[in-house]
Amino acid sequence: MELPFAEPYRIKMIEPIRRTTRSEREAWIARAKYNLFNLRSEEVYIDLLTDSGTGAMSSAQWAEIMLGDESYAGASSYYKLKETISELLGMPFLLPAHQGRAAENVLFSALIGVGKEGEGKVVPGNSHFDTTKGHIEFRHAHAIDCTIDEAFDTEIDHPFKGNVDLGKLEKVFMAHPRERIPLCLITITCNSSGGQPVSMANIRETSALCKRYGIPVYFDAARFAENAYFIKLREPGFADKAVKDIVREMFSYVEGCTMSSKKDGIVNIGGFTAFRNEETFRAATSFNIMFEGYNTYGGMAGRDLGALSVGLREACEPDYLSSRIGQVAYLGKALTAAGVPVQKPYGGHAIFIDAKRFLPKLPREEFIAQTLGVELYKEGGLRGVEIGAIMADRDPDTHENRYPALELLRLAIPRRVYTSDHMDYVAAVVINVFERRDAIKRGYRITWEAKLLRHFTVELAPAT
Ligand SMILES: *Cc1c(COP(=O)(O)O)cnc(C)c1O
Repeated sequence: MELPFAEPYRIKMIEPIRRTTRSEREAWIARAKYNLFNLRSEEVYIDLLTDSGTGAMSSAQWAEIMLGDESYAGASSYYKLKETISELLGMPFLLPAHQGRAAENVLFSALIGVGKEGEGKVVPGNSHFDTTKGHIEFRHAHAIDCTIDEAFDTEIDHPFKGNVDLGKLEKVFMAHPRERIPLCLITITCNSSGGQPVSMANIRETSALCKRYGIPVYFDAARFAENAYFIKLREPGFADKAVKDIVREMFSYVEGCTMSSKKDGIVNIGGFTAFRNEETFRAATSFNIMFEGYNTYGGMAGRDLGALSVGLREACEPDYLSSRIGQVAYLGKALTAAGVPVQKPYGGHAIFIDAKRFLPKLPREEFIAQTLGVELYKEGGLRGVEIGAIMADRDPDTHENRYPALELLRLAIPRRVYTSDHMDYVAAVVINVFERRDAIKRGYRITWEAKLLRHFTVELAPAT
């Protein structure tokens, strides 16, 4: 008999979570203005809002917390992290930041400019993450999505749906002068298109094309280890390579990266920018000091830098990655078996439910994926997140709602937090709603929204 999948860790400390009643949940979600971000965490039973900063640290990471060096400058914890990043990613220059978007702020200040200096500039790449796009648009520049078309059809089984379409990218290069394209950004894995990986071949070819046009390439590296594992699993020629070697090769094609350490760093807060080139690093340091803190701590406690240096290494361990990717696929398979339309192949950190296929009769103006998210919460205290028209925000020029090709409800799985039993529960909640989907006839309308990144704080009411 083939031995079943099992987590490569055991539980040393527990955190109680409480099941609630349907009537409690209905009252709470109404109070929350039908925005899942407005719920208190005690009101949620299984929290799949995000895999960001929600992972469980290991005993080795907790031990490192106790060794934290809190010196303002030159802390040993900083040097531990710098050595880890230099060894794992091959990037010798490091600027810590308090999270990924802070790293974006630092890198983009150096490369795109500040204030209106970004006007007329474009940043092509595969689907940019929402804060990334926010930081680009905040500088009056534009993010151009050059992801392959296959990414936008949830039924196509393409192994690397995060890939950059080289034809689309070259069109951007031909339409804009070199000085208007400060960088090309490859997000690994591509969060906004479903946690989908980018192949090594695509990274190499994108890098070569950018080199021909003199455009530097950077990674948004939040899930670099998951991306490397998918390359190992799916790309010919990589099956026998160590994840660490795959990671090194991926980074050999780029100039640097921003990283949200709250993902594959397996820490609760943190981020960094890393560079190959000393000159760019120097240009970024003054912004880091101004926005984040001195170069050797950058908004982080020394102990957290230490825990991150351990977490980055653990994230590259094959047993961990196989369990991680395996758990996400386990949930994906349970939903697929019941006919629930989910994005295929399954992503690295989340299962994405295709809300348009789930609720085909709901008009897009009533926010299809958001409606599904609210229903899942009411059904079983499960919290996912909308990646659809609310998150897509309004067009910065026309101020019209943007309706993306996909309306997705993301169930993001925190690292090393939930067991397979929890996944069985999640599948049951989704399947129950799926079975009564025809009774869901109306969605929601917006009653208040912020100017930028509105999904975090939007307020809604049932559509009438
Ligand atoms: C989470 C994330 C970010 C932003 O990082 P924060 O730590 O949340 O600020 C940027 N890019 C990607 C791809 C992400 O997943």
